[in-house]
Amino acid sequence: MVDINDPVVKGYFINLVGEEGFKVVQKMPMEEVTDEKISEVTGVLLNIVRRTLFILYENRLAVYRRVRDTDSGWLTYLWKLDLGNLNAQLELEAKKVLRNLKVKLEFEEGKVFYTCKNQCNRYLFEYATELEFICPICDEKLEYQDNDIIINALKRRILELEALTSGVPA
Ligand SMILES: [Zn+2]
Repeated sequence: MVDINDPVVKGYFINLVGEEGFKVVQKMPMEEVTDEKISEVTGVLLNIVRRTLFILYENRLAVYRRVRDTDSGWLTYLWKLDLGNLNAQLELEAKKVLRNLKVKLEFEEGKVFYTCKNQCNRYLFEYATELEFICPICDEKLEYQDNDIIINALKRRILELEALTSGVPA
């Protein structure tokens, strides 16, 4: 059983389908329903419901079944959440974030950065030299920026995520 309101799960969904989309996930009926019905039950606009369902479907978190109305001959889509795949998706997501963090860490390590007091941008030492230590955006002096804080924060986050993603079968 998935706890939709678990902070990690909630964060994942909000990132995926937005705040309104998350309402759909939270309040969607358990049985098969049409998008109109979902909109009615959740109070979320129909076009947002449709967009949300499509994204969930693409991420294999929702399924649909098409049925033809015997009277009108129209096709109706019946939707259902399918969160059986959620843990695998969370795992994938965590691995993606982990990869990005490692790339960032690699970029930060062993480098010397300069920035102005307005922090317009960060410049590597070589480039700061070319700029004669003047920020090209605000004309303030460029000064050495200690990136140890950034490196330590990245390392800590990497360790946390590694603990979270290890031991769970992919
Ligand atoms: Zn500046």
